[in-house]
Amino acid sequence: MNNRLYGKLIFELSKEGRKGYSLPKNRYGAYEIPQSMRRSEDAQLPECDELTVVRHYTNLSNNNFGVDTGFYPLGSCTMKYNPKINEEVAALPQFQNLHPQQPADTTRGAEAVVALLERSLCALTGLAHFTFKPYAGAHGELTGLMVIDSYHRSRGDMQRKKVIVPDSAHGTNPASAAVCGLEILEVKSTKDGLVDIEDLERLVNLEGANIAAMMMTNPNTLGLFETGIPQIARLIHDCGGLMYYDGANLNPMLGVCRPGDMGFDVMHINLHKTFSTPHGGGGPGSGPVGVREGLQQFLPTVSPYHGNFAVMLRAYAYILSLGREHVKEVGPLATLNANYIKESLKDVYELPIEGLCCHEFVFDGLKDKSTGVTTMDVAKRLLDYGYHAPTIYFPLLFHESLMVEPTENESKETLDGFIAVMQKIAEEAKSDPELVKSAPHTTPIGRVDDVLAAKHPVTTYRQLKAEVV
Ligand SMILES: *Cc1c(COP(=O)(O)O)cnc(C)c1O
Repeated sequence: MNNRLYGKLIFELSKEGRKGYSLPKNRYGAYEIPQSMRRSEDAQLPECDELTVVRHYTNLSNNNFGVDTGFYPLGSCTMKYNPKINEEVAALPQFQNLHPQQPADTTRGAEAVVALLERSLCALTGLAHFTFKPYAGAHGELTGLMVIDSYHRSRGDMQRKKVIVPDSAHGTNPASAAVCGLEILEVKSTKDGLVDIEDLERLVNLEGANIAAMMMTNPNTLGLFETGIPQIARLIHDCGGLMYYDGANLNPMLGVCRPGDMGFDVMHINLHKTFSTPHGGGGPGSGPVGVREGLQQFLPTVSPYHGNFAVMLRAYAYILSLGREHVKEVGPLATLNANYIKESLKDVYELPIEGLCCHEFVFDGLKDKSTGVTTMDVAKRLLDYGYHAPTIYFPLLFHESLMVEPTENESKETLDGFIAVMQKIAEEAKSDPELVKSAPHTTPIGRVDDVLAAKHPVTTYRQLKAEVV
């Protein structure tokens, strides 16, 4: 296609005897590595000249898509701009060269950052204490549920092993409850996309004495504000359960309202979403867990380690950059941006739930279903236009979910560009459906099998060669 060596592995560019390094003359003499520590055969390393290596990895990096290269409206993931000052702070040698086992009297500065970040999170959430040990949102959920389980057991309330989870919940909620050894009771949503309080009352009447907790996301995964929280919290507390808040998407609430004030007892925050940090491709993350006063003794016990410290530094730098005044603008701006896109596109995309959304919203595919063009096709076609696809086929409440979250940082011009392209794709779906169904046309590879790599990973070159033969 062109001279950029697309698709080749560094091993395939290898030529025997090529070198990309030159070592200085040995001034120290030979050192014999003990036989027991030696490989039985030479490592199979690629042999390439330096320029080939530079081009190979630079071309690979150019195939990557990030918040810094284009619009990335991946619903529920909050792919917001990560200010570069965060990176500078996290890269300070005074932080970067810390070792978790160095003497405590040499790490006072780092500990002060942890304490100050905890104070900021308490102020923003209305909870009383945080642990920073969990490494991601799902890890935080598991930690929080273990806190709740420990609380019930400390009271001799051994039978509380059921957790109520709305059918709109993020998949990690029921998964974390199951990993914690708890049973899931699903509560339905109303046609307006909120927790069905009648269905919840039915569950509470039936199972009240066995309920450990209710897990909720607010705004929920449809981007809707759950207006029934005070009533829900009363129902759960009256039957002896605790309220768990999935704060992965705290973004629209920042400085506007606080989970602690709504009656939540335990929560996690995804620092890597709400408080920036590049987190494409599954990391890095930090999922601190907060509890109300009286539950702190159930948090994980003190140890010299404080979780993903570099993500915490970025979050603290981000919070300080915004300050008390500007933190309040994040939620309203994210909400404005999401509503602007929703209202601009709802004539051509199916909007299952009308009305004001918060930071994100869900379309149920194209409005005109006669073209046969699916949400998957729209998502693939967006790649041709240089946009990252929104989240698709989640939440599971609709068949053709397409979940858009623009975040607060995007300019009106960027939003208008995205809206125009989404409208263009809707037109193409009518005039030339095959064009959309066979997209993408401009990326190095087209449609991949989404599950094969997860179910049948090929992780080494040798394995790959064996597969090909
Ligand atoms: C992202 C997300 C999670 C999981 O967070 P991870 O850091 O990916 O484990 C949980 N709940 C909601 C609502 C989320 O958006």
